[in-house]
Amino acid sequence: MSDKYQSFTQSAIGKVLVKNLGLPSPAKLERYAAGAPLVKGTVLVGGRGRLAESLGGLLGELDVTSTEAAGGGKLKGLVFDATGLTSSADLVALQEFFTPVMRSLETNPRVVVIGTPPEQLEGGERVAQRALEGFTRSLGKEIGKGGTVQLVYVAEGFEGSLLSTLAFLLSPKSAYVSGQVVRIGTKNASIAAEQVDPKKPLTGKVALVTGAARGIGEEIAKVLQRDGATVVGLDIPPAEDDLKKVTSDYITADITAEDAPAKIASYLQEKFGGVDIVVHNAGVTLDKKLANQKADRFGKVLEINITAPERITAELLEQKLVRPNGRIIGVSSIAGIAGNLGQTSYGASKAAVIGFVDSLAEELPDGITINAVAPGFIITQMTAAVPFATREVGQRLNAMSQGGLPVDVAETIAWYASPASTGVNGNVVRVCGQMMLGA
Ligand code: NAD
Repeated sequence: MSDKYQSFTQSAIGKVLVKNLGLPSPAKLERYAAGAPLVKGTVLVGGRGRLAESLGGLLGELDVTSTEAAGGGKLKGLVFDATGLTSSADLVALQEFFTPVMRSLETNPRVVVIGTPPEQLEGGERVAQRALEGFTRSLGKEIGKGGTVQLVYVAEGFEGSLLSTLAFLLSPKSAYVSGQVVRIGTKNASIAAEQVDPKKPLTGKVALVTGAARGIGEEIAKVLQRDGATVVGLDIPPAEDDLKKVTSDYITADITAEDAPAKIASYLQEKFGGVDIVVHNAGVTLDKKLANQKADRFGKVLEINITAPERITAELLEQKLVRPNGRIIGVSSIAGIAGNLGQTSYGASKAAVIGFVDSLAEELPDGITINAVAPGFIITQMTAAVPFATREVGQRLNAMSQGGLPVDVAETIAWYASPASTGVNGNVVRVCGQMMLGA
């Protein structure tokens, strides 16, 4: 399941052809290796707002080397506190900070701009803060070199919750996440962040991962285990052999079965007394144009992708099995945001996952959060079956000119799952290399 075009562009003849024909040239994306430093290089910190004084300290807590003076050396990351920009005229400060250092960036650079959620502001300040979205999304499309650019809106009072988000967005863990807007502290989130060991943030936590036997689910299980969690994997009975290679704690069930929620709840209750992290990853596509669609196929996609996660979540919450500061995580899709030919059922189910996040984010008790990832083109068995031409378009039509890997989705989920991500609630982050499709 390798990307043959990308391998070709790195060959001698490929390099010549890419240069002369102006073909897309996908950069090699660095991925995080367990135990490695979060950032291999220096991060330049700038801007003047309510975070300016604390940013250096926060990065220090992550063992990230930062500086406030560019000094002409190479830079791995740029963090700009834009919370102090209160009018459209102030926005020129972005250009003044970024332009002089854009040519000093190393490969796979990371850019994070921090703002205040515009919906919490009025007048000119609201205008200026809203502008940050257009700035970061545009920079994401031109930065190149496998770089990523994100905007993090932090509500006042939630500055302390930034740590896990900076750790994710500045490190290779966010290799395929770019042009995203993250909101911290805007929805029903408790302020107190749990102290965690940054190398093993999920120590002592129990995570349920559905669809864990292969593909993205298998990788989610591995990354959560790497971060210290005990993973309970779930998949359909025919996948048992694969599932037990992923984890020794597992449940075989079809999540749509009438008794599945009760079965899951009693397993978690009896073995662990509860659960901290629930990842609703199991999902299917049964594509057909609507004109040719059949009720049972349309219904099945909805049942697996959204009704089952709703029922399982309701059961776990009702039985109070999700522990305080717990995490519920959905897997949506770019198809749920932009739509896709032949995918009316899948698109509806994946948009419903976003609705599920919206509906629960305001009402979950005990600091429990709910967020979702929306993967773009991720190279798995599911996408290997896509016809060549469609696959090529899917892989190239993004700012990275390549498909993502299951680990990119898994790392994003691990960031949500961290007990330190307390203020991160109600977000839908795309893992799509900043795909050109959709908002
Ligand atoms: P996959 O088909 O490789 O794996 C899905 C897993 O879910 C399988 O192990 C399968 O047995 C399990 N599963 C399916 N129906 C089930 C049921 N009723 N009960 C229990 N388990 C069930 O798919 P993947 O590519 O790894 O996708 C994982 C998730 O990511 C899905 O929700 C998918 O919609 C989403 N997604 C994938 C991509 C991509 O590009 N691969 C893009 C966007 C979203």
